[in-house]
Amino acid sequence: MVDLRSQYDRLKADIDNAIAGVISSTAFIRGPAVRLFEEELERYLGVRHVISCANGTDALQIAMMALGLKPGDEVITTNFTFIATVEVIELLGLKTVLVEPDRGSFNISVEAVRKAITPRTKAIVPVHLFGQCAHMEPIIDLARQHGIFIIEDVAQATGAEYRFSNGTVKKAGTMGTIGCTSFFPSKNLGCYGDGGALFTDNDELASLIRSITNHGMKVRYYHDTIGVNSRLDTIQAAILRVKLRHLDEFNESRAKAAGFYDRELSGLPGITVPEKSPFSTHIFHQYTLKIQGGERNSLRECLENEGIPSMVYYPVPLHMQKAYLHLGYGADDFPLTTSLSGEVLSLPMHTELDEEQLSYITGCIRSKFN
Ligand SMILES: *Cc1c(COP(=O)(O)O)cnc(C)c1O
Repeated sequence: MVDLRSQYDRLKADIDNAIAGVISSTAFIRGPAVRLFEEELERYLGVRHVISCANGTDALQIAMMALGLKPGDEVITTNFTFIATVEVIELLGLKTVLVEPDRGSFNISVEAVRKAITPRTKAIVPVHLFGQCAHMEPIIDLARQHGIFIIEDVAQATGAEYRFSNGTVKKAGTMGTIGCTSFFPSKNLGCYGDGGALFTDNDELASLIRSITNHGMKVRYYHDTIGVNSRLDTIQAAILRVKLRHLDEFNESRAKAAGFYDRELSGLPGITVPEKSPFSTHIFHQYTLKIQGGERNSLRECLENEGIPSMVYYPVPLHMQKAYLHLGYGADDFPLTTSLSGEVLSLPMHTELDEEQLSYITGCIRSKFN
């Protein structure tokens, strides 16, 4: 699905230097590369504050802690996503309110959010799924109207851009109250282990977030708030500094591979290629087809027999996960999410795909569906 090895081979000299530099400095925790990386990412995103942490899941948890969300507060998020969001909502004793995605974009449905808002709603978590921004403008309007925070989950869309109706363009994660991302190795901006970060334009919130990531302290051994231990390793920051310089080029390579898939696969009966939203760039964290007619699993097997990996993101809707049955939803409550779970198939997508590999993959799919 991803080829991190070939990417490393291309960047080897710079990466090896960066790692060796940290080791010889022995500044493993909160070394200079951490703040330098944060500053570089601030400039890239056009946001006042980037605060790094240990992973994307922690970023979401820290965001909810920093916003002072309390047990019983309702948090609205999409049912069609990775588990991390609901995990932290539940860990903090908040109330998870799941809503359906849009069938076309896979992203949270604005209409569904509107219907789910109650007087107890404190936050909305739009996830920019598969590399494309959720429709932020109407979500921001709703949040303003009701005094609700927005926590953007940018784990799959670092570098994607959203265009507002007045022409303003903003990077994913810089539109809500706080943006949360992950630097898990396979993400668009990935390190060589775990890593994450929070983005915000709010100075006070940034200072609180920074203290929460470091045991709730601003002055050493004086703890003003309950915090966590969630820091980005200096070695990972040094690697990310190298990779950030290539992020736009990485995302272009992904878009190019997606263009190849689109050309070869659109129009095949029973296959829907990913929808391109009119208000967002698509940086293709995943290239995800919808396969109708119950053929998804047989296509997957077919690809597997030819040595082609593919993945189902996500096979089980959150409301049907064993650990979340206590949320109390019924099996039939989310027909859209449920049908998508049965139809989606993600193809190999990374920065090193060449035309030979792409045509081998698409050839295999075409021969099955033509
Ligand atoms: C990867 C991911 C996360 C969690 O990131 P980690 O760094 O693995 O904790 C959260 N949300 C989404 C949508 C993700 O894809």
